[in-house]
Amino acid sequence: MHLMPSTHAGRCSHRLLLPTLILSLVVFGCGDDDDSAMDTGATADTGSDAVGEDTADVSDTGADTGGSGECDPGAPGTRPALFLDGSLASGVTEEPCMLTNGEEVMCYRIEIVGEPTNHETGPYCPRTIDDGPEDVGLWPESGTLYDVDGAFVTNLATFYDDPTWQLYNPDTGEVNVTDTAESCLAAAMPDAPEEYANFCVECTLEDVGGPSVIEYLIPIVPVPRDGAPGEIGNTPPGVSLNGVRIEFPADTDIILGAYNIAPLDDCGGHVNNGIGYHYHESTGCADALEQCDGHAPLIGFAQDGYPIYAMTGEDRVEPSDLDACRGHTDDVRGYHYHAASPGENMFIGCFSGEIVDAGGGRPPRR
Ligand SMILES: [Zn+2]
Ligand SMILES: [Zn+2]
Repeated sequence: MHLMPSTHAGRCSHRLLLPTLILSLVVFGCGDDDDSAMDTGATADTGSDAVGEDTADVSDTGADTGGSGECDPGAPGTRPALFLDGSLASGVTEEPCMLTNGEEVMCYRIEIVGEPTNHETGPYCPRTIDDGPEDVGLWPESGTLYDVDGAFVTNLATFYDDPTWQLYNPDTGEVNVTDTAESCLAAAMPDAPEEYANFCVECTLEDVGGPSVIEYLIPIVPVPRDGAPGEIGNTPPGVSLNGVRIEFPADTDIILGAYNIAPLDDCGGHVNNGIGYHYHESTGCADALEQCDGHAPLIGFAQDGYPIYAMTGEDRVEPSDLDACRGHTDDVRGYHYHAASPGENMFIGCFSGEIVDAGGGRPPRR
């Protein structure tokens, strides 16, 4: 088994982290609370269900809009009750946490299932150069999402102005795809063998042993940062209401440098080991909760506790007053973000609030 340097943990260059797989599987099947939020998101159960010492399940209190298809009146901050049915691996609890500015506050502990509860995943790579847009996923380049179909694959050497690109067999038209668990895992290692140059790299959830539970610690009351916004870096920016990790931008330079394409599906997500299915792009699949006032739908929550909404609402117009982090303020929602457009390889630009020191968005350490 290859181990990768710990400094690469959580990076999304499709360099995989095998040991976490086993851990995640164990955790996935051993919820110790008898009242997960999976079946309570759509009901206003005001009871407090103890799930451990000094903690209470807070994901089944509050608005009764989660997963019900009704509109949401909107409110500031993180509202755990809004996660869609089945999206949480355990009940949301509260605990003390340390922010990056040294302040100790209370946080929600949120554990998502690591796969979308409201849509299928894939497809990703084409199998032959005859495959059309409906058979394949997407690749972001310079602000545009391209279908990784036969036409795209056969044009790669021209597209990237580099004759080394040859992702398919010119005699048979077959595309080089990592379509076994073994090849998917090998091609995604940092020291991938040369033989995996010029491959379309895809891993299915089955290849990586199923979805990975991901945990977050998110401040209950967002704390605005003093001075400059916080860089995203290698911190997953947030979590979506449908149970998926919102990931930092895909490291497309590294992928392309290995003469690989690692497509996203039409929902802007794909799979790698250790973190399972995750989003790099906002394409609409995670727009989980319509807003009653026509504002853009709610997607999820950022690690600093501010909500993330889709780019546009009923008027189909991107807000004109967004800051560098893609946030602005209104009377209903307070400060909140709007996701970037498809092809930008990101959701938000930076953190306007303090996040938890050491970060969340990782497989549980236990
Ligand atoms: Zn990725
Ligand atoms: Zn807004």
